[in-house]
Amino acid sequence: MLNAGQGILNDMNSEEWTYRLAIHEAGHAISCFLNGVGFDFVKIMPHRRTKRCGLTKARIATDTTSPTKTHRDLLILLAGYCAECIKFGNGFKEGTIRDVEKAYCRALGVTSSEKECSQFMRDARDNTEKLLNNNWKSVERLADKLIEKHYITGSEVIEIITNETII
Ligand SMILES: [Zn+2]
Repeated sequence: MLNAGQGILNDMNSEEWTYRLAIHEAGHAISCFLNGVGFDFVKIMPHRRTKRCGLTKARIATDTTSPTKTHRDLLILLAGYCAECIKFGNGFKEGTIRDVEKAYCRALGVTSSEKECSQFMRDARDNTEKLLNNNWKSVERLADKLIEKHYITGSEVIEIITNETII
């Protein structure tokens, strides 16, 4: 039995699906790097089409009361979704909904009205897109590596980005 979401996923061929996963996780990882947030690894599991299919293990702050830190964390949380939007025009996978929900909950914690919260989310989304657009080559390069290797450590990511800058 399939639910509607899985039905849509099954209509995508596995190459498209893998590429989407890779772009999504590369977005998270590049944003971690640019915001000085350490992460242990980034991986994709393209053959597992349900539940969580990719993961960027970030050492994100647990201070949920600081608007500045929350804004920075949102730049990382929203980066998978924003990377998908930049590349494909929309955010699609199930993990994207979870990311946006998580970001919204964090935004609620540092704002005092729904209106303020929406503005906080909009600003974070705009800044995430700017950040990724300015570093898009790194996102694509990391995504290509992820498709090749499926698992990349934090220090390997730094190497990939640094090499690109040197070239
Ligand atoms: Zn994500």
